[in-house]
Parts: sequence; C-alpha cells; structure tokens
Amino acid sequence: MRLALSLIVEWIVKFFYWNANLEIGIPAIDAQHRRLVDLINELAAVITDGGQLPKVSAVIGDLLDYAAVHFADEERIMAAAPMAEDCKQAHRRSHQCFIARVQEIARSSELHQSELAEKILDFLTTWLISHILGSDREIARSLRGAHEEAYPAPSLLDVSPVARVLINALSETERRFRLVSDCAPALIWVSDASGRRSYYNRTWYDLVGACESCSETFDLLEFVHPDDRPGYASTIARLCRDQTDGETEYRIMRPDGHEAWLIERIRPRADTNGAFMGLIASASDITVIKQSEALLSQSNRLLEAEVARRTAQLEALTQTDPLIGIGNRRMLDQRLDDEVRRAQRHRRPLTAIYFDVDHFKAVNDTFGHGVGDQLLIRVGRTLKANLEDGDILVRYGGEEFVAILVETGLDQAWRTAERLRTAVGRIRLRVLGDNAITISAGVAEWQVGEAGDSLLQRADRALFIAKNAGRNCCRVDLAA
Ligand code: GH3
Ligand code: MG
Ligand code: MG
Repeated sequence: MRLALSLIVEWIVKFFYWNANLEIGIPAIDAQHRRLVDLINELAAVITDGGQLPKVSAVIGDLLDYAAVHFADEERIMAAAPMAEDCKQAHRRSHQCFIARVQEIARSSELHQSELAEKILDFLTTWLISHILGSDREIARSLRGAHEEAYPAPSLLDVSPVARVLINALSETERRFRLVSDCAPALIWVSDASGRRSYYNRTWYDLVGACESCSETFDLLEFVHPDDRPGYASTIARLCRDQTDGETEYRIMRPDGHEAWLIERIRPRADTNGAFMGLIASASDITVIKQSEALLSQSNRLLEAEVARRTAQLEALTQTDPLIGIGNRRMLDQRLDDEVRRAQRHRRPLTAIYFDVDHFKAVNDTFGHGVGDQLLIRVGRTLKANLEDGDILVRYGGEEFVAILVETGLDQAWRTAERLRTAVGRIRLRVLGDNAITISAGVAEWQVGEAGDSLLQRADRALFIAKNAGRNCCRVDLAA
C-alpha cells in the first residue's frame, strides 16, 4: 500500500520541468523552447485532469501554432549560422516531420481522446528533449563559433543520452504506477487542493460498476450512501482545509444494490517545496468485517437476551414453592420490604395474615403424606383464589401460609381472613370423607416506621392466640 501511494505521489507532479540542461545558450530560442515545454505540460495537465476533448484539441492546436512560429524563427537564425547546407536541410526536415507527425497522430480516429493525448504527449516530450539537446545545440555551437560574445556557451555539457534515459525512466514510472494502482486491491483516488478528485484507479470503477472511459464525469460522491455522504464530504473538506491526514469509514452503493463498507486513509500531498497540492486516498473494502461484527453483536444480543430470560426463570424458580406453585418465603422476604417502603412513602395501610392448617400432622399420620400434599395444594389454591390480584400469598413453610394485603386496613383484613378461613373449611377431599379441614389465622396491621419482620412476628403472635383459643378462628394483634 505504502509503495503504491508513493508511486502515485511521484506521478502526479508536472510532466517535466524546465531546467538548465535544456538551455542551448541562445536566449530567444531558449525562451521559445521554454514556452513549448509549458504547452506540453498543459497537455499533460489535461490528461491527468481527465480533461474534455475540446481542451485537448485546443492545446494541441496551440502547440502546433507555436511550433510553426518557433521553427520559423529557429530556421531564420540557422540560416545565418556557418553550418553545412545538408545539416540545415536535415534540421528543416526534422521540423516538418515533427508537425506532420503531430497532425497525423491527432487525426487518428481509432484512438480514444485520452489515448490520443497520451500518444502525442509521449512523442512531444521525447522529440523536444532530443531535438533541443541534439540538433538545436548544434546550431548554437556553430553560431558561437561566429559570434562568441552574443551567444555565451551553455554551462553544462551535452547530456542528450542522460536526458533520454530520464525520459524513458519517467514514462516507465508512469506505466508502473498505472499497473500497480490498477492491479491493487485498494481503492485509490487523488484530488487537487480543493478536494476535487482528478484520478481514480481501476479498482474504483470495478467496485461501482462504472466504465473507465467515463472518467471525466465519474464522481465517487454519487456512489456514497446518502446517509454517509454529508459526513464524508465534510471530512474531505476539513482535511483540505487543515492539510492533514485522516481516516474515515463510509458505505458505497454497489450496482447490485448491496452496500460496501470502506475504510479510507487520506494523506495530504505536497510539492517539492512542501506546498499543499491536494489529497491522496487509499480505501479498503471492509464489508466482510462489518458483516461479521454485525453478526457477532446480533448473536451477543440474542445470547444476552437468552441469559436474561434464563436468569429470570431461575430467579422465579428460586422464589416459587414447587409443591403448590405459589411464592415461597424467599419471595416474601423480597416483596414485603418493597411493600413496607411503599406504605411508608405514601402512608398507606398494609396488613399481614398468618395462616396455619389445624392438626395437619394428624392428616399425614392418618391418611399418609401424599394426601397431606394434596390437601396443602387445595388449601394454597383456595387462599390464592380468594385474594385480590395485588395481594401477596406465599407458602411460608410446612402447612403455614402468609398473605400480605396491600392498601388494606385491619378491619378489612380481618374480614378477609374470616372469608378465607370459611373457604378452606369448605374443602372436601374424597379420601377424607366428611372430615373437614380448618385453619387458624393471625392478623396484624403495619405501623408507621415498622419493619416487615416485626409485622410478621405480630401476625404470628396473633396466630398463636387463635390456636390457643381453640383453632379454626382468626385473631388480630393490636399493636401496643
Ligand atoms: P397445629 O394445629 O398446632 O398447627 O398442629 P399441626 O399438626 O398442624 O402442627 P405440627 O407443627 O405439629 O405439624 C405440622 C406437620 O406438617 C408436620 C409436618 O410433617 C407436616 N408437613 C410439613 N410440610 C409438609 C409437606 O410438605 N407435606 C406434608 N404432607 N406434610 C408436611
Ligand atoms: Mg405449623
Ligand atoms: Mg398446623
């Protein structure tokens, strides 16, 4: 990835710079050569910007016009040079060949405009450099012999072979860059200083199903998911403004309608003087990772829900009496404190009734433990069925039950206890024949500031009184 990025940064620089090696030492001709180099660079810029055909043809037109003027000037100067006539002829022919060749390439209808421009560019750069450093330098040399003062010698030696090697290396670098970036799995783009993208590698076109020949109109923002588009655009604007690097994740809409998640690393580009030129970005498709993350978090959510469900089930089980299916003492411990707090906060009445089956041991002893169990189940259900929904009933242990009556004062609780005692008295089990079952009950009303266990103790005390009073009756505990 790093290699690809550095290659691209190198390629984006201007096609070639004017330098002292290109000067032949005749100021008028050097100025014209320099203008030609500028025109070539304009053509290179059109190609790298993905410019339109009219722009390409306009630049080529300018170039040909300028070359014609320049060649005329050069030939005029050459006419005065003490050179062999056949050398002058050869030089003039090379000018004509140049113009004919550029026109011939420009007419190639089978080439796409970008290929056309690249081909002309390739020809121009090689030709210009070799011409300047070759035959033009020859004119300068012969003129210098005649007018040494007027045309001082260039400071550097003829470097024509070196220049050719450099030109070849440059175009090889470009070819390598295209090969590397087009084959890279990463999605690469390059922008100017305003954030406007001037280059996308082939991987981009493949991802969104676009045709590479539409490069002039291609804009990745159109393919960014609408929900991510504003955020992504503002990230790019910020990086251009701050001239810094960054990383962002966003979704791309693919032609098959699916989304692709990308993670993109963006770096600023600088020219050789360190001035900010724009951005270069490299993105990777992380859809599979995102999908795995989504699956993982979905399974985690399901797992957590299942654990919570099982925990609640276990919690309920630990608070449920297995024989009768009503709450047990553990449930009472938890619920009673809540109800006492509520009564305390709202100053509402609350009562407890302690029930105990009378002579239950005798049932076990006479009819067996199984019959005793059946009877306990019937008693528990009867009590439950005769209480309000908001009331609490638990099997406190053995044949003892506790009811907590919310929003209920002592009188009403006593009446409820009596009603329940009567209901239990009506229970009949075939195995018991006409033997009736009775219960005794102790009732106590919660006092402001009283704890739950104190309330239960007072209800138990009242139950004890009921037992001592002969059983099958209810008694209340009147708090001191
Ligand atoms: P009292 O009227 O004074 O309450 O007499 P009682 O016989 O009901 O009281 P006691 O405490 O002497 O006996 C309670 C019996 O309840 C003793 C115990 O074996 C029985 N018991 C406790 N739990 C169960 C149970 O789950 N099933 C059955 N069948 N019997 C149980
Ligand atoms: Mg008992
Ligand atoms: Mg009993």
